[in-house]
Amino acid sequence: MLNMKDLSIGIDIGGTKILIALVDKTTGEVLYYIKKKTSRGNKKILSKLIDGINELVNENNICIDEIKSIGIGSSGIIDRENGIILDAPNLECHNFQIKSELEREFNKPVQIGNDVEAAAIGEWKFGSAVGINDFMCIFIGTGIGAAIVKDGKLLRGKSGTAGEFGHMTISYNGRHCACGSYGCLEAYASRSAVEGKITEALNKGVKSVISDYIKPEKPISSGMIAKSVERGDVLVTSCILEAAEYLSSGLASVMNLINPEYIILGGGLVEAVDLFYREATQRARQKALSLPAGQTIFKKSHLGDFAGVIGAANFE
Ligand SMILES: [Zn+2]
Repeated sequence: MLNMKDLSIGIDIGGTKILIALVDKTTGEVLYYIKKKTSRGNKKILSKLIDGINELVNENNICIDEIKSIGIGSSGIIDRENGIILDAPNLECHNFQIKSELEREFNKPVQIGNDVEAAAIGEWKFGSAVGINDFMCIFIGTGIGAAIVKDGKLLRGKSGTAGEFGHMTISYNGRHCACGSYGCLEAYASRSAVEGKITEALNKGVKSVISDYIKPEKPISSGMIAKSVERGDVLVTSCILEAAEYLSSGLASVMNLINPEYIILGGGLVEAVDLFYREATQRARQKALSLPAGQTIFKKSHLGDFAGVIGAANFE
């Protein structure tokens, strides 16, 4: 009985995939979803969203009038007030007036926010952070994103970009980062950073069981990394331990700086590779000052891939 539900559409636009989901806003339940490969550029992404929403509505035999709102979490720099993706290099979007375009098309209120903020709201309302008003959500995948909730409020900062945990400098004069700077945590502890280290070693002739899984033109996935660690592969295990060591330095720094009650970790690498999660959290406790080290509670994300769409459907 879909018509008895509080229906909203939640959309998560990431660098590799777009998730479009029909969500019951009251329960946080994902009733149906469509996954599409991310296109590049304002126009292509817009037509993918319009097609996806129409497909979602048709497949469920509902009328667009039954949908209350549309929420979008997107990577990039967002102007929440005007509903614009100002700049998203990985989507090749610039000044994308996504709110007004979709409101014109569907005549529904559209809200937009950052993808990690959406995931944090999802976890806050229905996942690992229910009832908690002091936490940080950190997602580790292709990049590293984070959102901070302090005293029951999402911390946005002056320009709305607070929570850029992945771009904390942990090594001055360090590796080049996608943001243009050097030595950012993301360049050491993201899935793509681990991939870079593995590829570099393979190119030098180091043997690894991960070669059994690698396909030409495809990235090294968290799943491939997990399988290699399970098989006791020396190269992949050492790359994971190194990334966990860097991540633990970042975690210890934020534990000291903002003293969060909970730190919730999610994303492909955390979900797939338990060694990465265990090592990073244990080492973070050893490195942080004793009071925050003893009190911060680590948890894994409950909603996984759906955190973003559930949170976006609940944007207000
Ligand atoms: Zn950076």
